[in-house]
Amino acid sequence: MRIYSKNLWNSARSQFAEGSFEIRGGRLTQFLWGAPSGKGAKSKIKDFGDLMILPSAVDLHVHSRDFDESHKETFESLQSQAFQGGVAVMACMANTMPRLDSLERLKDFFKRTQKLKVRLLPFAAVTKNLEGIDATDWDKLLKLPIAGLSDDGKPILNEDMMRSVLKVTKKFKKLLSLHEEDLRISKASVIHLSASSLRLGIDGSPEDSEWTMVERDLALAHEVKAHVHFGHLSSAQSVELLRRARKKGVSFSAELTPHHALLTVEDYESLSPTLWSKMKVCPCIRVSTDRSSLWRGLNEGLLDCLASDHAPHTSFEKDRPLVEAAHGMISMQYHLPLYHEVRSRAKVSAAQFVRALSQRPAQLLGLQNEVGDLKEGLKAHFVVFDPKGEQTIHFDRSRSKNSPFEGKSIKGRVVEHWIEGGRVF
Ligand SMILES: [Zn+2]
Repeated sequence: MRIYSKNLWNSARSQFAEGSFEIRGGRLTQFLWGAPSGKGAKSKIKDFGDLMILPSAVDLHVHSRDFDESHKETFESLQSQAFQGGVAVMACMANTMPRLDSLERLKDFFKRTQKLKVRLLPFAAVTKNLEGIDATDWDKLLKLPIAGLSDDGKPILNEDMMRSVLKVTKKFKKLLSLHEEDLRISKASVIHLSASSLRLGIDGSPEDSEWTMVERDLALAHEVKAHVHFGHLSSAQSVELLRRARKKGVSFSAELTPHHALLTVEDYESLSPTLWSKMKVCPCIRVSTDRSSLWRGLNEGLLDCLASDHAPHTSFEKDRPLVEAAHGMISMQYHLPLYHEVRSRAKVSAAQFVRALSQRPAQLLGLQNEVGDLKEGLKAHFVVFDPKGEQTIHFDRSRSKNSPFEGKSIKGRVVEHWIEGGRVF
């Protein structure tokens, strides 16, 4: 069967164009550009009109839960959301219960996820139980088919530890994903320190807790000549540090999240206090000038990965006074619509959008010859997207409900999602 659209992602030209392709053995083949004619017309054509067809997303930052927290999310419920959200590959953080900090735990992860259609690559923990003290068996764990190492949820405060882990991830050519938060100054990251936090009367967390760590780790990556990956950046200062590091030739990649790209701390003031905790994430959602810096960072390719930081929680942990509530929100089910909203508001080019959504994260996982683009020979993972389709956000595929986007209307809808040549949504 031939798949046709007036807005098919053309990888060679980095833009959307009229064209079509065939699927053979679950892979993409025989791309034809322009209107369907002679050669293309031989087989049956599935005509998607002017709907967009783009590569499925690759998400480098997911909290999968399952194991002892399957009441929050299971691998199956996560996959079901990824089908609708347009995500085909995801890297999962090590802060499951129990933690992914040993060979046995990782083998259990592989066993439980191998039959899924969405590909899940785990990060192994940098330190045992993510405590930042004793290193896990890096040499042994990095030989496994994992995304890399990460203590996400917790920073690596020890500089010697940081230097050593940069060296080992460099040696194995795997990602080191960092949660940048200096716990000595973040005040538990309850809410961003701002005019809004003062008006609400809550002890605020300064953005210094993030950028001081970003500054340290860019310097260490430069020193060791290793690549460093920053999870969920939130502040203008961090983006500025990336800009300077790029000029110096430091090798890095960095994530944006939908919540940091769409919300601001001022939004708290229009919410009733019982809803504040829905906005609580770590790092905190900051002011609108930070948000516009993140948008600029995305346009400049400094923030080059669109991640979700999907983090399910029970209402018992989440629906509490702001100070006590857990950090994090879910978004996987609406990954593409939320990022399409980011794209319109931040005025992101098609090239930069597809690069950050799919191409760059696939490359960082070493999977660029398999996924993350629409090219001859790659797996037929693609999304048919209606940029004009309005819908109401309703997280009915997750076992958790924690999101301030629930009930909101959004423009942009995944019409179909295909993984390895089969339709999954
Ligand atoms: Zn984190």
